Amino acid sequence: MGLEDFKELIYRCSKCGACRLTKEKGVHGPYNFSCPSGVKFGFESYWPAGKNDIARGLMEGNLEWSGRLMHRIYTCTTCGTCDMLCHEATGKGTLPVIMGLRKELVKREIGPPVVLKKVRKDIDEHHNPQKMAHDERRKWMTEEVPATGKVMFFVGCTGAYIRQEISGAVVKVLKSAGTEFGVLDDEWCCGYPDYYAGYEDPLEEIARHNVEALEKAGAEKVIFACPGCYDVFKKRYPAILGKQLPFELQHTTEYFMDLMEKGALRLNKELGKRITYHDPCKLGRMNGCYDAPRELLARIPGLELVEMERKREFSWCCGGGGNIPFLYPSFARWTAGGRLEEAESTRADMLVSACPGCKNTLLDASKGEGKSALEVVDITELLAESI
Ligand code: SF4
Ligand code: SF4
Repeated sequence: MGLEDFKELIYRCSKCGACRLTKEKGVHGPYNFSCPSGVKFGFESYWPAGKNDIARGLMEGNLEWSGRLMHRIYTCTTCGTCDMLCHEATGKGTLPVIMGLRKELVKREIGPPVVLKKVRKDIDEHHNPQKMAHDERRKWMTEEVPATGKVMFFVGCTGAYIRQEISGAVVKVLKSAGTEFGVLDDEWCCGYPDYYAGYEDPLEEIARHNVEALEKAGAEKVIFACPGCYDVFKKRYPAILGKQLPFELQHTTEYFMDLMEKGALRLNKELGKRITYHDPCKLGRMNGCYDAPRELLARIPGLELVEMERKREFSWCCGGGGNIPFLYPSFARWTAGGRLEEAESTRADMLVSACPGCKNTLLDASKGEGKSALEVVDITELLAESI
């Protein structure tokens, strides 16, 4: 697919500006703006409509394809806020154009930025972007988990190597509910970093491997604590493989909610906390999952949820999407810092999310530029604690 395929989206952008503002607070609230890239870098070309202008200029030959475009195109966190707002206002979208620009930069061998070329090589060699040993992917487990099962937990690279406490909490919750489940012994990176870098070719081998391995393991349902992996399986794999996946997909919050409804998952321990919840972009805006995490939180004894101003589809990105932590770590921390500040304004003790990547980015910022005393945890950790 080239930019020409998105001609209608590009040409019909009227610069109405609906994609810039989270309408909930109107133009006078403290949290008006939707786009981390636009707010941080300021120039029109960093805002979504400006990217449409870039695409139009390139298509019409008024702009040259060159490395000078890269910062504008790759500082988008792919949070999807503009896409949602543009759809609401005009029935059109923005993300296909942004991803089209990335793919075209890769095709023309201008992109992606060098850091992401290195990440591609690392995924190729180690099946994870962290360059960790592939044969240590299951090392986070503190108890035996089979490699087969009707329910398979796809751990993801962040869950396997960095935020292992979240994966451990998933195991604890599943076991307490009596679920028989497995974790692949040859799970590969889902391909999220490659997709958002603009690569197309490597994704087919990755998708084929993961889907075949899960099929062989007997999967009827695959669950994900990582919304990034979940989104790639749900949206990219069927398109790449040209078929529906032979198993059902669920985020762990949806699956845990089902277990709760069946009476299999019981939460007993009072936690006595005031918390606020951050909607991960790939779980909320991209997949419409806003209620399951909130319903789970409501069922944890002694937990009070206070919402931030930007919530659900208007949630401010944590800065962890679209490869930003690899490419521009200080921009990721700046974006996360805005979220921490907003979370602090609720006077919560804890900022809770439902994504290992969000936890990683928010925690990183809370220790550095964002400096926050807020505790940052994943919802699964709270569930595990409350059992
Ligand atoms: S909301 Fe859509 S049409 Fe309006 S300026 Fe933004 S991208 Fe263009
Ligand atoms: S996806 Fe998010 S960061 Fe990217 S242009 Fe849209 S609002 Fe900005």
